[in-house]
Amino acid sequence: MRKKLIVGNWKMHFDTHRASLYLHELTRTVKAHRDVEVVLCPNFLALQSLSLQVDHSKFKLGAQNCYWRDEGAYTGEVSATMLRGVVTHVIVGHSERRHVFGETDREVRHKTQAVLRNGLTPIVCIGETASERSANETHDVIQGQLTAALANVTSEEISRVVVSYEPVWAISSGTDYQNHPVASPAEVGRLARQIRSIVKSLYGKAAADSLRVLYGGSSNTDNAAGYLEVKGIDGLLVGGASLNAVEFVRIVETAARQAGKQQETVDG
Ligand code: PEP
Repeated sequence: MRKKLIVGNWKMHFDTHRASLYLHELTRTVKAHRDVEVVLCPNFLALQSLSLQVDHSKFKLGAQNCYWRDEGAYTGEVSATMLRGVVTHVIVGHSERRHVFGETDREVRHKTQAVLRNGLTPIVCIGETASERSANETHDVIQGQLTAALANVTSEEISRVVVSYEPVWAISSGTDYQNHPVASPAEVGRLARQIRSIVKSLYGKAAADSLRVLYGGSSNTDNAAGYLEVKGIDGLLVGGASLNAVEFVRIVETAARQAGKQQETVDG
């Protein structure tokens, strides 16, 4: 059974001090769940100190980005090599990287490879913009972005890749995650099926069956259960709501309940 995964993307929020206080608060309130993996993604600067503070029985740490070369004259960049030993996961190709910083499919491909080469788990984000959606291009965009990101991923490596479907139009700007347009669970289910079928055509059925697919886009306590019930969705990438301990804890608890129900079905 695929383990549920809840990822908190703190984006460019919380300086090192606040990040530490917030982690303390989460550690106090989030319970360890055998069937749910929780990955926290603070900013680069906070990662090092949080890696010394984090309770590994409850949380893993992830980076929000990385550069794809391992070392060199690349001013301002942080490589996946440098993140080894500090994080287990790296978000790659987040829509803000693509649309605010102009990251291309080629860079996403290089970054995915770099993360895997360094023994870490890439969380590859893909998703269409509002105008691509209105032009009925969602399927083509997903096909193009996913195929590009996986272009050099081997059949051994694919088992370590996580894919997050994140329609750009559904991603909040931080504070408006409760009233922001979101994708319907039915839509998310369709896209999860498409993602799995692309992976099946590239790597075979076993790889597609074990691939973890997340949804990201203004998820919160009110809509989390709806997404987590979608067949083929294994968790959530949470932005705005991950900055609020009460919301985030509830989302983790929802995932744990959902994982428990699935386990009962498997156990019969
Ligand atoms: C994200 O950062 O990937 C995200 C989905 O943000 P939000 O939940 O705020 O829409």
